[in-house]
Amino acid sequence: MTAIRPSPDPCQHWDGAEQRRCDSWDGVRMYIIGPRCLLHTPNAIAGKPEAPEVDPPKRRHLSVVRN
Ligand SMILES: [Zn+2]
Repeated sequence: MTAIRPSPDPCQHWDGAEQRRCDSWDGVRMYIIGPRCLLHTPNAIAGKPEAPEVDPPKRRHLSVVRN
């Protein structure tokens, strides 16, 4: 699962009521739809719980074993 990773940009969620982008850096990660803050992840918008985070040390260990 690679949909969630750190983002170089702020949240790109469009707030239709306020006619502006969110632009928050609060916990922003990259999703398939673009960078989103904690309040505007695809699951948060859908009212669902967030997926668990990927564990970076385990992934690094696996790549070391493979090499
Ligand atoms: Zn946002």
